[in-house]
Amino acid sequence: MPEQRTVLIDSHCHLDLSQFDADRELVLVRAHEAAVSYLVNPGIDLDHCRRALALAEQYDEVFVAVGIHPNSAHDVGSQELADLRALAVHPKVVAIGEIGLDYHWHDVAPDRQRRAFMAQLELAADLGLPVIIHHRDANKDIAEILRVWAATVAERSPLAQRPFKGVLHAFSAGLDLAQEAYDWGFVIGLGGPVTFRSARELHALAPLLRIDRLLLETDAPYLTPHPYRGQRNEPAYVRLVCEQIAQLRGMDSADVAALTTATATSFFQLEDRFGAHPATRHTPIHA
Ligand SMILES: [Zn+2]
Repeated sequence: MPEQRTVLIDSHCHLDLSQFDADRELVLVRAHEAAVSYLVNPGIDLDHCRRALALAEQYDEVFVAVGIHPNSAHDVGSQELADLRALAVHPKVVAIGEIGLDYHWHDVAPDRQRRAFMAQLELAADLGLPVIIHHRDANKDIAEILRVWAATVAERSPLAQRPFKGVLHAFSAGLDLAQEAYDWGFVIGLGGPVTFRSARELHALAPLLRIDRLLLETDAPYLTPHPYRGQRNEPAYVRLVCEQIAQLRGMDSADVAALTTATATSFFQLEDRFGAHPATRHTPIHA
């Protein structure tokens, strides 16, 4: 009998991408063997949201966020927003994402990105769903927009009733932004980069973050953790992220797993969906 391990949730991976077309089933088997009980697959555009939902219909352990990524936000108008809204009613949709701002690549002009971002934040507030935020080289604008949004949500949205409003995924800013994000009701997502040997700032930051406001993620197929850096990433590797954070904080990795799984369960309200708490989930996924 395999050793009993505390279950993990990969709060952010892109299993719908073509990098997994050849062996997606095996990737899910390995996730299951690594005790990764649930995965959340954010879409990056409408087409990929539909693909992610098809996977969620096929596999119990896959949940979905629907959204248009800033690098795909060329044209987010009323039709695209209506399509997203229609997709978001699917019972396996647990968040709006990934959305945000990315000023590193210059595929989409910043003002277009900001308009698409704000429109999707409004959609999330309307629907009462938390948001998965992508931020890259745009910390100032992200903070300005989310600060205002979080304040208005607190007054008028069903989202105000939820324990958490959003996650800053693949967090790459400083402690100041993390602390302000906690005030907005946000959590922080950490993934592969925290395992990179060169990531001194993240190594210093990880012990200072609130452990009760932390989600683990892979962002697979990207951001592969050490020692697999350079290869394709996959959800099973979220365990390496967990172990690294435990080491940096001087904690037992089972405790980091239990705490982050509890936060992810509450963030995505997974317990309410199918009545199965991730920690007690034991049905074989691939019978
Ligand atoms: Zn992503």
